[in-house]
Amino acid sequence: MTENTKKKSLHFIQSIIEEDIRNNKNNSKVHTRFPPEPNGYLHIGHAKSICLNFGLAKQYNGLCNLRFDDTNPVKEDVEYVDSIQEDIKWLGFDWEDRKYFASDYFEKLYEFAIILIKKGKAYVCEMSADEISANRGTPTQPGKKSPWRNRPVEENLNLFERMRKGEFEEGKYVLRAKIDMASPNMHMRDPAVYRIRNIEHHRTGNKWCIYPMYDWAHGLSDYIEKITHSLCTLEFEVHRPLYDWFLDQVIDTEYRPRQIEFARLNLSFTIMSKRKLLKLVEEKYVDGWDDPRMPTISGYRRRGYTPESIRKFADKIGVAKRDNVIDVALLEHSIREDLNKKVKRTMAVLNPLKIVIDNYPEGQTEELEAINNPEDESMGTRMIPFSKTIYIEKEDFMENAPKKFFRLAPGREVRLRYAYFITCTKVVKDENGNITELRASYDPASKGGKSPDGRKVKGTLHWVSAHEAIKAEIRLYDRLFLNENPEVAEEGKDFTSNINPHSLEKITGYLEPGLQNAQPESKYQFERIGYFCVDKDSTKEHLIFNRTITLRDSWAKIDKKK
Ligand code: ATP
Ligand code: MG
Repeated sequence: MTENTKKKSLHFIQSIIEEDIRNNKNNSKVHTRFPPEPNGYLHIGHAKSICLNFGLAKQYNGLCNLRFDDTNPVKEDVEYVDSIQEDIKWLGFDWEDRKYFASDYFEKLYEFAIILIKKGKAYVCEMSADEISANRGTPTQPGKKSPWRNRPVEENLNLFERMRKGEFEEGKYVLRAKIDMASPNMHMRDPAVYRIRNIEHHRTGNKWCIYPMYDWAHGLSDYIEKITHSLCTLEFEVHRPLYDWFLDQVIDTEYRPRQIEFARLNLSFTIMSKRKLLKLVEEKYVDGWDDPRMPTISGYRRRGYTPESIRKFADKIGVAKRDNVIDVALLEHSIREDLNKKVKRTMAVLNPLKIVIDNYPEGQTEELEAINNPEDESMGTRMIPFSKTIYIEKEDFMENAPKKFFRLAPGREVRLRYAYFITCTKVVKDENGNITELRASYDPASKGGKSPDGRKVKGTLHWVSAHEAIKAEIRLYDRLFLNENPEVAEEGKDFTSNINPHSLEKITGYLEPGLQNAQPESKYQFERIGYFCVDKDSTKEHLIFNRTITLRDSWAKIDKKK
């Protein structure tokens, strides 16, 4: 690759970083952070941010911190702190010894606020939250200055200290930055820096009753951690002047962090708001945060997605400056692509139809060799039992089949994968006319599914031996929402009205006996059906397989090759 083509393939954040390195900014160091708020489980949008932050650090020999943005004591939880770490690790990233909490900086952030007050750049305001917002003005009209704006520094220091000591009730005072009530950027109109909250914090307990606002905590936490490139989503673009203004007030080093915004990931057929995901969990539309239909990392893990496929997806979608919606099919494609190469194939019948092979010896079972993954010989082979009575899928038989139906029909011959050619000789029905079983004959010379004399069969079916097959609970998951944009609901309804009523169907499947010991999280392709993953609650006594994703029928190709 020439220098030129290399440059072209950089995304805009890489370009900024490379320029900063060339200019020796921050000693040419690259230090990023991933800053989740522990108020929910991580989702696929977070995965994009994780891949970006940890990925850039790795690419430029830098570091990436994990920082819990836990400045809001109300909705945060230890359960979330734990799940977030587990999910980042599973995705394949490592913050090493750099796990931080914004709450660890409360003392420092307080000291920075004192600096701000001493510089005459902040004041303690007695307006209520409602009054403050009523006086903020509009983007075209300047706001009204607070009557407390020119309170003397000493008084501000005294009141702020007493706020910290817990002398006042919530809402009585708020510390505000003194910037510009006429700024066209509303965020610059004397934003709040600290407010009183008499709430216990999950880490600092009752030590604090004043809490820093997000804008104050975020940029200064970056500064404390010596972050060089602070990547965040586009909605923070309008906060950037404030980010820089706050830094200007307290910074006394050459080093300086820089905020860069990128487009958040939106996926079709997917909800990504944590508030809405929480609603799905709390109102039991799904079975917890890790329900395989959730777009959470833990949900995808349980569903059978791999970290590699998610990383590859993040890579493929790239980094944009403008909001867009990515087709969920692209994510599904990444999963298929990865699993196709990696997982063992096996045969399972989910909707069984019994076939008795009349000319096969009664009581005999033979072991036939099956290939574990035709894409990868090194994955070897396995033996599967074959006998006189087998199951095929109901859908693979038609009594009055049209010509183009290349599966089983009366008088027609098909190949049983890795086994034999069979011909349907008889359809057996009950008194109501329902098909109960088929009768067939097999050609012993076609062992292994190979044609003995060059004669061709069009169809190749999967099957299991009825006696040896093991039963398993099969959970057929599908997309959780019916609409491309689940947010758009009918008048008076919300996004839950778009839930797909068939997003989960539980059935019993018949599997190759070799799957008896399949361990939770192990993954398989059920030939011609899809990819499946053993559920975390699966046991030897009660096997549970989750459908990860359906398969595009790839058998047409196989037939052509033979
Ligand atoms: P909240 O509304 O609760 O703040 P959030 O989605 O911003 O939700 P955070 O925990 O604050 O959640 O996000 C952590 C990081 O992940 C942030 O840097 C945020 O910008 C990034 N992030 C969140 N959602 C997405 C998304 N859909 N695409 C890309 N990055 C995202
Ligand atoms: Mg956020």
